[in-house]
Amino acid sequence: MSDCIFCKIVAGDIPCKKVYEDGELLAFHDINPVAPVHFMIIPKAHIARLDEAHAKHELLLGRMLLLAPILAKAQGLNNGFRTVINTGPGGGQDVYHLHMHIFGGESADFRPHRM
Ligand code: 5GP
Ligand code: ZN
Repeated sequence: MSDCIFCKIVAGDIPCKKVYEDGELLAFHDINPVAPVHFMIIPKAHIARLDEAHAKHELLLGRMLLLAPILAKAQGLNNGFRTVINTGPGGGQDVYHLHMHIFGGESADFRPHRM
């Protein structure tokens, strides 16, 4: 998807603060964090939104979920974290490349209800 901002990040055409990468997944910090730690895990393949994922993506989606606590702990979130996947206009999705937000950390500005 040539006009997809996250595909451009996967391709290295737009820089990111990388958290993790393997053959299928990329994790990087959100450019506009809502919590002291806020990053996202995305599939490298372009899936626009969660409700466009299929059974063939089962393993990929499972890997995203299982990676979340590993990376959260590595980012210092030892007391838990929040995961959010916004889907479609009704879910407040802004970037149409599937991504799972992971955020948390101690802060008076941490407003989990905002995501
Ligand atoms: P959504 O509302 O689609 O779930 O969230 C999109 C997220 O992507 C937002 O939190 C926004 O800050 C983040 N974002 C948008 N553009 C960029 C970018 O170019 N780089 C990074 N690192 N994050 C981005
Ligand atoms: Zn994309």
